[in-house]
Amino acid sequence: MDLVLATQNKGKLKELKALASAMPDLNLILAPPDFDPEETGSTFIENAVIKAREAARMTGVLSVADDSGICVDALDGRPGIHSARYCLGSDGDRRIKLLAEMAAVPVGKRQAAFVCAMALVSAQDELLFTCEARWPGELALAERGTHGFGFDPIFCPLGQAGTAAELEPHLKNEISHRGQAWRQVLNFLSAAAAQA
Ligand code: IMP
Repeated sequence: MDLVLATQNKGKLKELKALASAMPDLNLILAPPDFDPEETGSTFIENAVIKAREAARMTGVLSVADDSGICVDALDGRPGIHSARYCLGSDGDRRIKLLAEMAAVPVGKRQAAFVCAMALVSAQDELLFTCEARWPGELALAERGTHGFGFDPIFCPLGQAGTAAELEPHLKNEISHRGQAWRQVLNFLSAAAAQA
C-alpha cells in the first residue's frame, strides 16, 4: 500500500519507516518538493488535516500528516502549535528562549508535554482518521544530552532518568508522542486492510 508522508523531512520518513516494520507492505513516500501548505489551523489536529489534505490533493495518493510541538503548563500551553516558529533562529535559540521564559518557575511547576497529532486523508479527499498523543514530562533547568532535535535537550519525559536527548534514539522514537500517534495510524490501516 502506497502512503504519502506529508513532509519533505527525510529524517521523519526514516523514523516512521523503522516503526512500521510490522507492515512490510506499507510503502512510505515523501511529499513532492513543492509541498508547502500554510498551517492556518488553531489546533495540532487542524494543521495535520490541512497538510494531509494538501499532500493527497497533490499526489492523488492516500496521505498521512503529523503536526507536533511542546506545550508548557506554566505558559498556558505555549509555544504549542507555534513551537517551530517560537522565535527566529535555530533550535538552540528556541531552547534558550524557552529556558529564559521559564527561569522563575521552580522545579515541581515545570510540567510540559510533547504533543503530536496525525491525520489520514484518502486519495478522494476523505478524512479517514485523526489522533493526538501526549508525551508528558517537565522542563529541565539546563540543556543535557546530544541526541534528537528541537526541544529534546530540555525535556525530561516522565519516568525517564534524563532528557529526551539523553535517550537512545530508537527508544525515544518508540515511546514518544510521534511514536504513539503513528502506532494508532498503523493500527487503523491494519484494521482497514483486514476488512477489505
Ligand atoms: P513540526 O511538527 O514538524 O511542525 O514541528 C514542530 C516543532 O515542535 C519542531 O520544530 C520542534 O521544535 C518541536 N518538536 C516536535 N516534536 C519534537 C520532538 O520529538 N523533539 C523535540 N522537539 C520537537
